This record gives sequence, structure tokens and C-alpha cells, in this order.
Amino acid sequence: MRHLHWFRSDLRLNDNPALASHAASDSLLCLYLMPKPKPWCNLTGIGPQRERFLRESLIALKNDLQQMGQDLLVLEGSAELVIPHLVERFAITEVSVSDHPGWEEKCAVDYLTDKLDIPVQVHRGNTLFGELDLPMTLDDLPLVFSPFRRKVEKLLVRGPRPALSHLPAPPSAQFDDIPLSNNKPHPGLPIPGGRAAGLRRVKQFIFDDEAITTYKATRNCLDGFDGSSTFSPWLANGNLSVREVAHAIFDFERENTANESTYWLFFELLWREFFYWRAQADGKSLFLLSGKTGKPRRSTFEPRNFARWCAGDTNHPIVNALMRQLVATGWMSNRGRQIVASCLINELDGDWRFGAAFFEKHLIDYDVGSNYGNWQYIAGVGSDPRGGRHFNLEKQTAEHDPEGTFVTKWGGVRPLQPDFITDAADWPIDSEKI
Ligand SMILES: Cc1cc2nc3c(=O)[nH]c(=O)nc-3n(C[C@H](O)[C@H](O)[C@H](O)COP(=O)(O)OP(=O)(O)OC[C@H]3O[C@@H](n4cnc5c(N)ncnc54)[C@H](O)[C@@H]3O)c2cc1C
Repeated sequence: MRHLHWFRSDLRLNDNPALASHAASDSLLCLYLMPKPKPWCNLTGIGPQRERFLRESLIALKNDLQQMGQDLLVLEGSAELVIPHLVERFAITEVSVSDHPGWEEKCAVDYLTDKLDIPVQVHRGNTLFGELDLPMTLDDLPLVFSPFRRKVEKLLVRGPRPALSHLPAPPSAQFDDIPLSNNKPHPGLPIPGGRAAGLRRVKQFIFDDEAITTYKATRNCLDGFDGSSTFSPWLANGNLSVREVAHAIFDFERENTANESTYWLFFELLWREFFYWRAQADGKSLFLLSGKTGKPRRSTFEPRNFARWCAGDTNHPIVNALMRQLVATGWMSNRGRQIVASCLINELDGDWRFGAAFFEKHLIDYDVGSNYGNWQYIAGVGSDPRGGRHFNLEKQTAEHDPEGTFVTKWGGVRPLQPDFITDAADWPIDSEKI
């Protein structure tokens, strides 16, 4: 038995059911394929900070694998081309992969299942609950969060699996070193990739600083590390499993104290869970202008406004500061994401999918369900029962940056720009076909 595991958003050895399934095989080829650029709206490649975080995570994973006599092969190219070639070359008899909610990722697995004459096993591992643990089928998944939360919040979150004690050896192949990124973490918000850094952050936020006990009041802070947990990059890349994080919360509550704030951190993990399963249920409608509603939101897309939004060069200092923080660090707080998304959609009349694609390029915590699901929510074509959100930028600034510290730190004050008026007839033409 010669197996292959294709790592995607599960860059860890611990609590990784797919990896654990190979214990009895004779050899195991561990593979990672660098993400493909988005072929539209000039948003090619992955941003410098996302690339850095990913490379650091892959180097850490490779080291962990090497300590168990294993190794990691990192290649470029599409799974549909690369994996069949590797299967033939190494006479692989089984392929495994951890479940992923993205439509393209699902299509790739479906293609491999059809094309290869060997089993392609999909394992759960990136959610709190397995699909069969859910008290509803994906067809009956609530469209909005609250009914979903009420149905699942009391379900048992199984404990993380014990650490692996053995992995089969790799086949004899050339496993090149993974070059370090040329980009460094931003000194204003340094978030290093890799499991060890994620574990350190969990220990610091939950157990050492006990910041979890005040989380509900601080979570809307605009800068990372100050108020919210900043766990998202390690969760999105799978350096940490979400069940490990949930159980760290439960351990703290059992051993120290439980209050509204400790519950609220778990509550936010339920949002992640909701968007994960919604992405699976929604398939490609997650990427449509109208989402699942069938009613496209009218937008008069003006490329210069979009370019200014991306560059943090609008007439809104808070938006500029946030966008500059995003590109410089790869991270932005939840409140910040809501503010800039609302600005693109409501102030600049932009197509929300362009904003989502820009986030996809830059966020070190990019996660298909959470990203596109939250964008749809604010645009009013997703799971918001109120039909979209419009944030008042002055009010948000007064509430979250009253002294202007954040705006100054990230250079949000820019020279005023002329307003661009768009010809109303130019967009969308037939947006559902785009
Ligand atoms: C427009 C927009 C785009 C977003 N894109 C992403 C994305 O690509 N990846 C991503 O992980 N999150 C995304 N989010 C959700 C949220 O902003 C981030 O998860 C959060 O800011 C990460 O910071 P934190 O780890 O400190 O969060 P905390 O407040 O400490 O929350 C703990 C964890 O709960 C989860 N979580 C919190 N809020 C949300 C939420 N609204 N939706 C889903 N999960 C949540 C995350 O896993 C987070 O790490 C997006 C939100 C918006 C409004």
C-alpha cells in the first residue's frame, strides 16, 4: 500500500484524521500544491503577507514531518494535472485529503475520484462537528446563523485526536527545501506562520493573559493582539484544529472561570462553523453577485474607486488605515472588515465579489466560507436576515478610534480625491453570467 496525502487547509500533524488513516500503509507521499492565482479582475497571485505566512507554515510542517522520518513535497500546478502524474510515478494505491468547503476544491476532488482508478478518501477534520453529527442535512441547513447556533451549540465537540506516534516513510523522491519568503512580518503586527506560533498565541490569549475573560468587550478593537484572539490565521491554514481551540476554551472554563466572554469566543467559532457548512451547501452560488437570493445587488462599478479602495486612498481615513493595515500585515479585525466591506458596497457602489477577491489575495487567514459568506452577508445577498449592512463611517470612527491613533498608525489621512460618477448603463450587463 503506497499512499499520498494532499495537504490543503490542514497544515498539521495533530488532530488530522486524514493523516492518521495512513498508519498501516507501506509508504506515504505528503504533498502540498501552492494556491493558484485568481484569473480575473487583475487580482493575480497571493499577496506578500499571505505568501509569507503560508511559506512559514509549510516550512514548520516540513520540519515536523522530518522529525517523524517523513517529508513534504511542495509543487506548483493544479491538482488535476499534478496528482495523476504522481500517482503513476510512485504507483500510489490511495489518495487522502481533508474536507474543504470550497467549490473549486470540491470539483478537484470529484475530478480525481473519476479519473484515478484508486480510492480518493475525503476525511473530516477542519470543523467542530462532523457532517453526520449535525442535527440536519446540508439541504436543511438554516439560511441564517441564529437557528443554526441554537441547534448545534449544545452538541458534543469531540476532543482532538492524540498526537501521531508513527507515520510511514516517504517514497524515495527529491524533496527540495522550501525557500523562505522574501517578505518579513510587519513589525506593527507580526503574525508568524506555523503550528508552534499558533500554540503560543492560544496559551498567551487564553491561559497566560486570560484575555479571554474580557473578550466580549474588547473583540471589536481595530488592531490585532489588542482585543480579539487573532487565532484566525492558524485556524484558516489548519496549523491548529478548531477542536483544539474549542477544547482550550473548555479547559480554561473548567480550570479557571467561565463567563459571557469565554462563551463568546466559542460563539465566534460557531460562526466559522456556520459559514463552513453554508459554503458546502451553497456550492458555486457563494461566488455569484446575487448569492442564493437570485436578486443581484445593483452596483455601478467604477474601476478607479475600486483601485483607490484597494490602495487605501479613498476620502475615508478609517477605511484607508484599515486597507493599508491589510496589505502591510495580511490581517484585519472583524470590525475593520465590516467597515471596509460596507464602504466598497455602499459608499463606492462596488461589486462585493471584487472586494472578496482582494481579501482572498491578501488575508493570511483567507478562508473561502468565512470570506465569501461574510461579504455576501454585508452585501445583503447571503445569510443576513436584515438584508445587508451599511456602516456609518463617522460613527464607527468615533466609536472605535476616537483619538485617531489607529488612523495615524496606518497612515489613513490622504489627500482628498475627486468623486467619480459612473455611467449607470455600464454595469452590470448580465452579471449572473459573469
Ligand atoms: C468581509 C469579511 C471577510 C472575512 N473574511 C474572513 C476570512 O477570509 N477568514 C476568516 O477566518 N475570517 C474572515 N472573516 C471573519 C472575521 O473577521 C475573522 O475571523 C476575525 O476577524 C479573525 O480575527 P480573530 O481571530 O482575532 O477573531 P476572534 O474575534 O478572536 O474570533 C475567534 C475565531 O472565531 C472565528 N470568527 C470570528 N468572527 C467570525 C466571523 N464573522 N465569521 C466567521 N468566523 C469568525 C474565527 O475563526 C476567529 O479566529 C471575515 C469577516 C468579514 C466581515
